[in-house]
Amino acid sequence: MSVRIARNSGFCFGVKRAINLALDAAKNHDSIITLGPIIHNPQMVQKLASEGIMSVDDTKEINNRPTIIRSHGVKKETLLELQDFGIEIINATCPYVSKAQEQAQILSKEGYQVIIMGDKDHPEVKALRSYLDGEVIIVENASELPAKKFGKIGIICQTTRNITDLENLVQKLISQSHEIRVINTICNATSVRQESTVELAKQSEVMIVIGGKNSSNTKMLAKISKNFVETYHIETEREIECKWFKDKVNIGITAGASTPDWIIVEVHNKIIKCMGNIDKKVDNIEDIPGFKEDE
Ligand code: SF4
Repeated sequence: MSVRIARNSGFCFGVKRAINLALDAAKNHDSIITLGPIIHNPQMVQKLASEGIMSVDDTKEINNRPTIIRSHGVKKETLLELQDFGIEIINATCPYVSKAQEQAQILSKEGYQVIIMGDKDHPEVKALRSYLDGEVIIVENASELPAKKFGKIGIICQTTRNITDLENLVQKLISQSHEIRVINTICNATSVRQESTVELAKQSEVMIVIGGKNSSNTKMLAKISKNFVETYHIETEREIECKWFKDKVNIGITAGASTPDWIIVEVHNKIIKCMGNIDKKVDNIEDIPGFKEDE
């Protein structure tokens, strides 16, 4: 019997950075808030709340408190509004998200019709859109493209998308445009998590994908894994049903970029318990077979 974890699992650089910035800032302030959840993991957001870092959804609720901008960034107009308040702003936007915003603006200034591949309702995409003037097309994938001819097209992605979807989008647009410029803004942390998930899914009989149900990159891992094997997307060990592992010997675990280590360890240990192998319980993510962060 084996329970292995995908080589790249759990917190990415941008999430670690955002949480560290928030915790550091909280040491110097009695009351501090994040505008929207700092990352898409309800358990981590709840833990930060217990340490006094509360999340509010609207700028009207800020009430002059120092404000942390979350890893996904905020709309341009929201940033201007915060600056107008004259409050302290701790910008925890992931540098890769900021870079995508800059590159989208360059495409727009150079006269490209910008197409964003991503979820139009995701905060990162809403923020990205806000930096662009004029018409912007937002699609999840190639099937949503409008059936019309374009001149110059500039393609940019939400950082947590999948490279195959991007390739399909470009492929479809070749016959619909004179010129295409593609800026691949899928971040490395996303790519390596997807690749190591595929690698492990191919060797497993069941895959457990751990992370927020609202986490774009975790949902993508679950979608990819389902192409290969029976897959369950859970947030915590409480959702696990031991029957999933009946008569199975190779179990795989993977976790989104916003999933804390402690949740991954709890899930691993619950699976081990289900399989009657409690002596293989671990205390740290590094002790789960297969784990090796190599970003
Ligand atoms: S997934 Fe990538 S872009 Fe998103 S926070 Fe992590 S490192 Fe940054």
